[in-house]
Amino acid sequence: MLVIPASFQILEELDQQSMAVRIEACGRLCYKSEDKISEGSAEPFVKGIVKHGHNSVLEMAALTLRVEIDSESLVAQFLSIIPKYIQLDRLEKKTLLISGTIRAFRELARDHGKIKLVKAMAGYLAEMSPLFFFDLAPKRGWLPQDGVRLTRLPLAEVDALPADLLAKHRHIAVRFISNRAVTHELVRHRPCSFLQESQRYCRYADDKFGNEITFIKPLFFAEGSEEYRLWQRAMAETEKIYLELLKTSSPQAARTVLPNSCKTEIIVFANLLEWLHILRLRTPKNAEPSMRELTIPLAQALKERFPSVFNEFVLAE
Ligand SMILES: Cc1cc2nc3c(=O)[nH]c(=O)nc-3n(C[C@H](O)[C@H](O)[C@H](O)COP(=O)(O)OP(=O)(O)OC[C@H]3O[C@@H](n4cnc5c(N)ncnc54)[C@H](O)[C@@H]3O)c2cc1C
Repeated sequence: MLVIPASFQILEELDQQSMAVRIEACGRLCYKSEDKISEGSAEPFVKGIVKHGHNSVLEMAALTLRVEIDSESLVAQFLSIIPKYIQLDRLEKKTLLISGTIRAFRELARDHGKIKLVKAMAGYLAEMSPLFFFDLAPKRGWLPQDGVRLTRLPLAEVDALPADLLAKHRHIAVRFISNRAVTHELVRHRPCSFLQESQRYCRYADDKFGNEITFIKPLFFAEGSEEYRLWQRAMAETEKIYLELLKTSSPQAARTVLPNSCKTEIIVFANLLEWLHILRLRTPKNAEPSMRELTIPLAQALKERFPSVFNEFVLAE
């Protein structure tokens, strides 16, 4: 068995990649198949995800559109469908700012293709990134819509938005390597998107996992203490039983004996406003210590990157 400390990483390098590359990089975390990433692997990966309906992977890329409209009635028509998982603001009287993930825009196009603003956005996005809309295009294609002009906002322009808009329209992905108790708490934050290493697919007896289970070092017990020795004994025994079960059972069956201390990886993707909410709940003294071990340094890192949004956030003593 291997014992490692918990850690996190803000996945900023993915912000510079194409949406397809980003989606593949995040999606492969579930199967721990990152070794299969190569030049040209993103497109078939995305198509496979669409085909198999593993749609949460398509939530891992968000984009922001500047939408200029000639008529106010377009907004009323759009709002009448109560668009879900979309951030909408007004930059000027007839200029909107609309952000969402690929999944949100896909489902808008799929379910509300008769709404003019949706048609305009779907046509624009399908032309920009046909890979994400190949299965949704109407027979005659998406026709251009009069009275609507769209531009995708480059990330640098999103980053230059005033704090209130930045908080809603800028999304950040963070990968946590932690125990499963921490990830169980993280997934309670409903506005986020998540992808997590799957114990159903990962077979820890395989060479790629070192033929062993990895556990997260518990911060509750000092190394060398009697409590730490007891914890080690429990983990060693669990590993033995898990590996024994795998001789005759599938990983999804064998995982039933795995404990909270098991190492897992999760990507949490959310806008800055939701990160602020998470940090307000998950850094104070009443939060779980293994969670605070990660969220306190994360709060510091986000403060440095987005001071206008996080500067007022004060860590509990
Ligand atoms: C110290 C601590 C102890 C906890 N103990 C327990 C426990 O014992 N048992 C337990 O089950 N959970 C527990 N939790 C989890 C807690 O109940 C919440 O599920 C979790 O913190 C998610 O936070 P949230 O609901 O505020 O916001 P999120 O899910 O992060 O949502 C963000 C915002 O979205 C809005 N929102 C999202 N979904 C809805 C909705 N369906 N309806 C209305 N508004 C919505 C709200 O405005 C909310 O503020 C604990 C959390 C903490 C921090």
